[in-house]
Order: sequence, then structure tokens, then C-alpha cells
Amino acid sequence: MTPVPPRSRRPAGEDGLDTFCRIVAGSLPAAVVHSDDATVAFLDHRPLFPGHVLLVPRVHIAVLADLPPSDVDSFFRLAQRLDVAVERATGSDGSLVLVNNRVSQSVPHLHLHVIPRRFRDGLRFWLGPRRPYRSPDEMDQMAAAIRNHLDPTGF
Ligand SMILES: [Zn+2]
Repeated sequence: MTPVPPRSRRPAGEDGLDTFCRIVAGSLPAAVVHSDDATVAFLDHRPLFPGHVLLVPRVHIAVLADLPPSDVDSFFRLAQRLDVAVERATGSDGSLVLVNNRVSQSVPHLHLHVIPRRFRDGLRFWLGPRRPYRSPDEMDQMAAAIRNHLDPTGF
């Protein structure tokens, strides 16, 4: 239950821990919806909509790429269960599940958002503007570059 010392940057709180490490350690209160040996899930204290849940690993890791491969399956299976639970609990029309890595990441401790959505709910979350490829060749080159970086053994 003791958080592992961080491998990467985190903001210096009074105790040297970031907000999510403090929640994991129990030194900061949170409305917990799930807790196990590897993860804690709790309500975001500034939700986009009521029922907005954050899922964090107990160990301090900064971004998704740092999640140990052995933890990936259980982390995302739990994300899937939370998604269903949030939708059912809120009676929402759908959901938004996302992870910010460094950019737009307010706390540098990996956290997966599960956000209930309703049609025409007014959330200004816009994946745009879109930037189409200038040519089929440019698109092929990008696909090839990503394929080349997809290591079949993990990274
Ligand atoms: Zn942390």
C-alpha cells in the first residue's frame, strides 16, 4: 500500500508527493469508487460532469508508456468496468475515456478519465482542426514510420 518512489518529475507538495500519490497513500481524502493492490479509482473533484472518474496506478508513474506491461491488462479491464459502471450510474448516453500524456496532463501521475457524456451536453471537447495528409505518399510514409516503431516485443 506504500507508494513506490517516483521515477519521474512530480510537483513538490508539502510532503513531496503529487495529488494522486497522496490519495493513494490515504493522506488526501477522495470519493473512492474502487481500490485494489494495483489501482485506485475515485471521483474527480472538479468533474466535467458528475460521475467523472479518475483511475490511477498505485505506483507513481507519469505516462501511459510507463505502465508496466504486466499491469496493462488489468488496468484496462478495470477501465472497461468503470466505463460501464459510470454510464449505468449516471444514466448517460455514452462516455469519453481518455489519457493525457504530458500535454494537458494536470497531474504528472498517470490517470485515465472516465467521463459520462450525453448527447448535446455542451462539453467543448473538440478533436480539431483536422490536418489532412497532403498526399497518399505522405500518409503511407507516416503509417510506415509508426509500423517501424511498433516493437512486437513491447517497445
Ligand atoms: Zn504520483
